[in-house]
Amino acid sequence: MTLIDSITRGDVEDAASGMGKAFEDANVLLTGGAGFVGSWLCDILIHLNARVTCLDNLSSGRISNIDHIQSERFTFVNQDVCRFETEERYDYILHLASIASPEDYEKRPDEALLSNSLGSYRVSEAARKGGSTILFASSSEVYGDAEVVPTPESYWGNVNPLGVRSCYDEAKRFGESLFMAYHRRYGVDVRIARIFNTFGPRMRADGAYARVVPRFITQALRDQAMTVYGDGSQTRSFCYIADTVKALLLQLVRKNARGDVLNIGDTCEVTILELAKKIRETVDSESEITFHPSRPDDPKRRCPDLTKVKKILGWTPKTSLSDGLDKTIEWFRVCTQDSP
Ligand code: UDP
Repeated sequence: MTLIDSITRGDVEDAASGMGKAFEDANVLLTGGAGFVGSWLCDILIHLNARVTCLDNLSSGRISNIDHIQSERFTFVNQDVCRFETEERYDYILHLASIASPEDYEKRPDEALLSNSLGSYRVSEAARKGGSTILFASSSEVYGDAEVVPTPESYWGNVNPLGVRSCYDEAKRFGESLFMAYHRRYGVDVRIARIFNTFGPRMRADGAYARVVPRFITQALRDQAMTVYGDGSQTRSFCYIADTVKALLLQLVRKNARGDVLNIGDTCEVTILELAKKIRETVDSESEITFHPSRPDDPKRRCPDLTKVKKILGWTPKTSLSDGLDKTIEWFRVCTQDSP
């Protein structure tokens, strides 16, 4: 085991604990399995003795996220979910394949739209034919620039349908609608997770793929300027990845989560400027904080109402922002030392 793998190992074992035999020998399809969230799910499902098919076209996912998985129960298929067809019967399908970073999906809006629409259709058909239970990784972005914060699942959203983020927001909204259509019309066992900002080891820090946490961490580690967009007063609530994936697996197996939607995230809302300062202090960096133009349609506040997920899954995140940042910073430190 490499030093990098040893940082995530404890979290994988932790997230797998309490899942019992739910996934023992289960046949699982994971689209987007080489991505940040997907690769954590691959690790945990293999740990739980599932048979995992990881489908990914590597458009933003990376082989390095999964190449440590040495198991005959694990199969990697390099394919776009939009072309996916199968005769195989899966017990569970998790549909995560999608670009997730705003700067990335604004460059490739058609790909974001298609993986969540045509791709969702492909996996819904596989679930209908095979009688699978299927989870759709939706997003807090379905709420757009929410006017109700903390935001409950019952809020309908405030999305600009023509804006630069609409390729993602509307695609996730379409995906949700399609999964509900398959549930209502064909009785498919669907579960929809609205994932709020999540972070941890394996997030990309490069170019347009980078979300705010890995970008700030790598900037701070290199004593480079930390790039805050706007005045930094916009907020996000960050949930550590091990908590996020635990909730996704519980949502997949709990009977009372069938045909329903749940917010998955953390309620500790921080401004982006506070986040930059916290990361700079934790890293003990000399970076200067610099201010740049805001992103168009950047949501001003984001924080989930977790009442429903608490009730249905008995789940709340247990890792504090500080503890999650410590682990993530450690991982990036090791990665930075390893890279030439
Ligand atoms: N952000 C920033 N500097 C960066 C990257 C992002 O200030 O270098 C801000 C961005 O404008 C947004 C927040 O951080 O308000 C979260 O951005 P991210 O790309 O992580 O994803 P989002 O939550 O917008 O989907």
